[in-house]
Amino acid sequence: MGIVVYNTLSRKKEPFETVTPGKVGIYLCGPTVYKPSHIGHAVGPIIFDAIKRYLVFRGYEVTWVVNITDVEDKLIVEAAKQGMGTIELAEKVTQDYLDAMKALHVDGIDEMPKASECIGDIIAIISKLVANGHAYESNGDVYFDVTKDDDYGKLSNRKTDEQAGTRELQSSEKRNPADFALWKASKPEEPEEVKFDSPWGKGRPGWHIECSAMSMKILGETFDIHGGGLDLVFPHHENEIAQSESASGKPFAKYWMHNGLTRFNTKKVAKSDASPEMQAALVRMTLHNLLDEYPGELIRFFILSTHYRRPIEYSEAEIESKRKGLEAFYRLFERIERACGSSPYSAADASPEPRASARADARPQSSTCTDSPSSEPRASARAIIADKSLAKACDDCATRFMESMDDDFNTAGAIAALFEFAPAINRFIDEQNLETGGSDAASADAVSATARLIVLARLIGLFLDPQETKTVATDGVADKAMQVLIEIRQHLRKKKDYETADLIRDKLTEHKITLEDRPEGTLWRAE
Ligand SMILES: [Zn+2]
Repeated sequence: MGIVVYNTLSRKKEPFETVTPGKVGIYLCGPTVYKPSHIGHAVGPIIFDAIKRYLVFRGYEVTWVVNITDVEDKLIVEAAKQGMGTIELAEKVTQDYLDAMKALHVDGIDEMPKASECIGDIIAIISKLVANGHAYESNGDVYFDVTKDDDYGKLSNRKTDEQAGTRELQSSEKRNPADFALWKASKPEEPEEVKFDSPWGKGRPGWHIECSAMSMKILGETFDIHGGGLDLVFPHHENEIAQSESASGKPFAKYWMHNGLTRFNTKKVAKSDASPEMQAALVRMTLHNLLDEYPGELIRFFILSTHYRRPIEYSEAEIESKRKGLEAFYRLFERIERACGSSPYSAADASPEPRASARADARPQSSTCTDSPSSEPRASARAIIADKSLAKACDDCATRFMESMDDDFNTAGAIAALFEFAPAINRFIDEQNLETGGSDAASADAVSATARLIVLARLIGLFLDPQETKTVATDGVADKAMQVLIEIRQHLRKKKDYETADLIRDKLTEHKITLEDRPEGTLWRAE
């Protein structure tokens, strides 16, 4: 079995066969940079970053494009509201977005085109559509004529007569209510920096055509994967297909992948007495706020723990429960380091680069892949772990991990495989008495097995950085000192000396150490 991908276009899973053998082009609709991103904006990038890592491991040469929409109505309105230039606002918000992506270990994006830098390409496509009769000009605006496109509606499964009520409906300049704008004539009050010259006078492109132009410019007229949130299926992606295919006469994206949307589950806010203000704050929380609150790896782990097509239930309680899961892995890594005197991260770093010999097309037919070069982590694990049952647990983990990823990039299944493996290593540490001695051979096996777990997790961008592990409280000297401080603070609070108690918390915050008061006691973590 090779990789299968659920295609929104066919509404079923299809074998993954790329347009050009060995190569993959991915386009993901990026942010409209008018206000800070929230967690929903991180879902697509995190998922596609994991998908890209896995495809690279499977031997593909991947080009991943995420656009920046820096010319759009909302941006013009917001910039005016804030008394800023649109470019100035776009640059500020883009930087904020890029900082967040970095913290989330989203580092696989190859190109980030900006709409404002692709105006010529956009105009070229619109001109083609006007010339071949798929679009018409009307008072400086240009509209796509949906009645000229027999295929219109094939992605969202809608007929054109069902499409009344879209955001373009009010215009009296349109021939059909479902026609949508490719080019919008400038209005006198709009800022000069968004007035671009065109054959139809000064104006700016519509949002949909921007994505068609940027994706085809970099990835070609037909490319492999187009991704985005489920809310973009209609009208955005439907319109992208219509205009792109009507201009090129060729199929546009082969696979359409849509991620589920984020649901803000305010009922599950950690404290049952959460005020309406607190609930509203949760919904408003920006990605920036979230990253102040939680490590990037935790947010990434949280998002990848759900299959990408399912909605993500976002609540504090959900994140906290994922934190516990992540900490179980961190505790294992620390335990190995303590018991075996060697870092599993370093051992993972020293492992052969998994992508080196991988070839997706050369995947063996059987579900076990021990002898395949594409299963590097598993093959090496078997070679270097002497203990039979630990080697089997490692093999089982690798097999389940890859089967999950091959099955429509099921990161939740892949993470579940890691969760099954970790207790097997912990049991091995116990059985072999590694914390109180044990044999060198057993110790080496435990380190190798844990390194294998890390190598697998890295295929979806987890456990890349040992520093993140250190953000979790350990039972070292620092923890003992922190426990003393926590006790003193509790004592002060009991005596109602809140001023001094708060001083302790504030001083710790200055050093980026956070205290979390939970029903079971106070926890600390350092950034
Ligand atoms: Zn788009």
